[in-house]
Amino acid sequence: MEKVINYMEIWVKDHMEQQLKQSDICKCEKCKRDIYALALNNLKPYYVVTNKGEVMAKLNTMYQQFETDITIEVEKAIEIVKKSPRHDDHKEY
Ligand SMILES: [Zn+2]
Repeated sequence: MEKVINYMEIWVKDHMEQQLKQSDICKCEKCKRDIYALALNNLKPYYVVTNKGEVMAKLNTMYQQFETDITIEVEKAIEIVKKSPRHDDHKEY
């Protein structure tokens, strides 16, 4: 069976990094993981079968369609984690 991946995970990860750069939120691994999970929970998964030549062009089109939703959900997740970060037990900052 060919590998199926949830492309939303890749998009959210990329987008999150960009949005975090413009935010004053804590960027430790715990907070980043929380933001990532929260955002993904509120977005529909987008599964694709890898190793298909025509997929990449289609993915760019889909990304443009989803980009606004991704921005909104990542922004919401950042606000939630900012208000109640769960990193209290971590050591490095
Ligand atoms: Zn943190």
